[in-house]
Formats: sequence, C-alpha cells, structure tokens
Amino acid sequence: MANTADVLKCVEDSHTSGLYRKRGPVIVSGRDALLQDIEGRQYIDCVAGHGAAAVGHSNAMVAEAVSRQAARLITCPESFYNDKRAEFLGILAGTLPEGLRRFFLCNSGTEAVEAAIKFARVATGRQQIVAAKRGFHGRSLGALSATWEPKYKEPFVPLVPGFKHVTYNDLDSMREAVSEQTAAVLLEPVQGEGGVHVADNDYLHGVQQICQEAGALLVLDEIQTGSGRTGKMFAFEHSDVIPDMICLAKAVAGGVPMGVVAVGERLGTLPKGVHASTFGGNPLACAAGCAALTYIIEENLPKRAHDLGLHFFDRLRAIHSPLVREVRGKGLMVGVEIKAKNARYLEALLDRGVLALSAGSTVIRFLPPLVIQKQQLDFVADQLEKVLCT
Ligand SMILES: *Cc1c(COP(=O)(O)O)cnc(C)c1O
Repeated sequence: MANTADVLKCVEDSHTSGLYRKRGPVIVSGRDALLQDIEGRQYIDCVAGHGAAAVGHSNAMVAEAVSRQAARLITCPESFYNDKRAEFLGILAGTLPEGLRRFFLCNSGTEAVEAAIKFARVATGRQQIVAAKRGFHGRSLGALSATWEPKYKEPFVPLVPGFKHVTYNDLDSMREAVSEQTAAVLLEPVQGEGGVHVADNDYLHGVQQICQEAGALLVLDEIQTGSGRTGKMFAFEHSDVIPDMICLAKAVAGGVPMGVVAVGERLGTLPKGVHASTFGGNPLACAAGCAALTYIIEENLPKRAHDLGLHFFDRLRAIHSPLVREVRGKGLMVGVEIKAKNARYLEALLDRGVLALSAGSTVIRFLPPLVIQKQQLDFVADQLEKVLCT
C-alpha cells in the first residue's frame, strides 16, 4: 500500500507545472539548520531555500512577527503610509551607507533586478546593460537577458536588446564593453549559480572607476550574497566600493518573499509612476523583514558566517580526494568544484542526511543557515569526505 509520502508526491507530480527536477523527501518542518521529512528523517540543510533561510528555519522572532502582523494587517499598497513598512525601511537604512538609503520594495529577486534595470535606464537615458559571463540574475525576461547561461535563454529569444556579457574578474574586458551608451554594469560580488566565483579584491574598485568615467551606474546583485551570507552584511563591504544600486531578496525577510532595490544618489529622483508593485512593501513581509534584520544584527550573523566559514573551509580543504578541483567562496557561501558531474554526489549526501545544492554541473554548493552549529558543519564536511572518497 502506498504510504503518505508517496501519495503526496503523486498529487504534486500530477498537478505541478513539471518545471522542477524533484528530490526525494517530502519536507514538512524545520528548525534552525535542520529540516524534517514526513517520515521523521532529519537533514542538515545546506540549501536553506537557496539561501533564503539565513536566520534559520522557523526562526522564532520571524514566526512571531509574521503571526502578529497577520492578525493586524496583511496588505497595504505603497500608495498609503504604513507603520511596519516605515519600521522596516528604517532598520534596512541603518545597515547601509549614506547615499544608499532609499528603497524600492518588491517580492522576489528577479523583480528587484527587473526594477534596477528600469531605474538605470530611466535615470541615465541610456539602454545598454553590461553583465558578466556565468552571472545569474533571475528568470523574468529582463533579468534573464542579464543572466549568462545560454540554456536558460535560448528558448526565449529574442530577449531584451542592449545586454553585453564580459569576462568576470577581467577589467580589460569591462573597459572594452563600457561606453557612453552604458546605463549600468550589473554584477554579483560573488557569483552564486554560476559556480561560486569570488570577485578579486581590486576588481569591483576598478569596475566602479570605469563606470564613473563613462557616466554609467554600478549595480550589485546581492540577492544571494546579502543579509550576512559572506561575512559582512553586504558583500560590497569587503571592498571600498559603494555601488549605485543594490538588489536584495532571498534572506532579507527571513524567508518570506521580498525583494529590495537600494537606490543611490547618482540616480537622482525617479519620476513618479515609472514602476510599481501591488504586493511590494506589504506589511506582512515588512514585519518579517524587521524581525529578520534585527535578528541578523543582534546575533551578529555576518561575523558568525565569517568565523564558521573559515572553519568550514579548513575542513573542506583537508579533504584528500582526487575528485576535488577547488574549494571556493566567502563566509558561508561555499562551492566545492569537483572533476565529475555533481548530481550523484548530491544524491549521496542526501542519503547521508545532508542537503546541498548544485551550481552548474560540477560544483557542490553549500548555503547553510547562518545559525548552523559548528558540529553540524563538521558533520557536513565528514559526509562530503565520505562521498568523495568512496
Ligand atoms: C536567486 C537569485 C536571483 C533570482 O531571485 P528569485 O527570487 O529566484 O527571482 C537573482 N540573482 C541572484 C544573484 C540570485 O542568487
């Protein structure tokens, strides 16, 4: 007889879009860095909702804030003022330098990128956007045009015109591409989906100079790197660069859907009505955002990500397997590139109670909740060693 898990999977398989390649377990609950499936099996979760669960699953502060706000007011468009939104904007502003303290609120990463592209175009009167090879910025048509992966794009050509892709970490390639036609350069400070590639220390600085000389804007996609992931609240803080816009999403509201564009002073005042979102800045997401940011700040999760990241790196670099090509990353955004396809190793990790994700076909990526325990990371490293050495 079919068990409950099989019945549920059958229902999902019959009625979902079919767009997703599914993994085995039916996940029903979570706490901090642990997830539990319907059969009671526990997993150490280094997927963390693609990094969205930085403050941990079912974070008590976020859960309490959401439940209190749901009973008070769920929806309220930005054409009205709202107490929770004001509180959230204030907290977020406190995490960013002067000149980057005005925000457009939306509901996902791709929407934040989409908005940033529109803002760059309207503020500069220019059309061209320069992005990077291996970059990932989302799947809606504008953000997809900025994304590199041909596999994601080919079925949808023609995409938005005016996008150029340069080699990441190569200033000559950037200098060649940026001109008086360039509205913005759009980059991830650490490329996530593209394989966990970290920008060199002086790269962003050089890119900013190139942008300033050409009158172009520098937009950083911190959707994955933001909210403490790389050991600073935002990855640009590892450099001396202050971008003209930042895109945020994923962990910014504790796992509740929210996207943000921080809009810098070089954009001037955006004309009223050029962009909007029904759900953007809704009180429910803002309440979650207040709780998540407060938790990240009070618990100093960026520092925790930095310290645990160093420890995890040491453990991973000590794995002696001929399969390992390179261990890369920053803070708790970590990729292990192997000399084989990653799929069966991700599967083997799952069988051993560790959820990890891919980045391309040869990188095993770890994006654990920043609240993960050191012993849990040790367990993850042990399991990776076992699957790579057998
Ligand atoms: C996840 C991600 C996006 C897209 O975010 P969605 O919420 O899935 O639309 C964009 N850019 C980066 C760097 C991401 O990691």
